[in-house]
Amino acid sequence: METPKKKRTFDLNMLKEHAEKLGGKCLSEKYVNSTFNLLFVCKEGHKFRLTPLEVMGKKSGVGKWCPKCFS
Ligand SMILES: [Zn+2]
Repeated sequence: METPKKKRTFDLNMLKEHAEKLGGKCLSEKYVNSTFNLLFVCKEGHKFRLTPLEVMGKKSGVGKWCPKCFS
């Protein structure tokens, strides 16, 4: 059995698309790595920072989004 890579990698386009699907935006213009906080804004205009890993979620899991809208 092969072991799948533990670290998932994302890119800025994936995050922007994901944010747009949720009605928001990714305001950061630079992707550093999956655990580096990026700036997002939700459809209500709340700004918040989350890492790509948190936003995209773990495999088959649900990602996080605006802490004010989903608290
Ligand atoms: Zn919000």
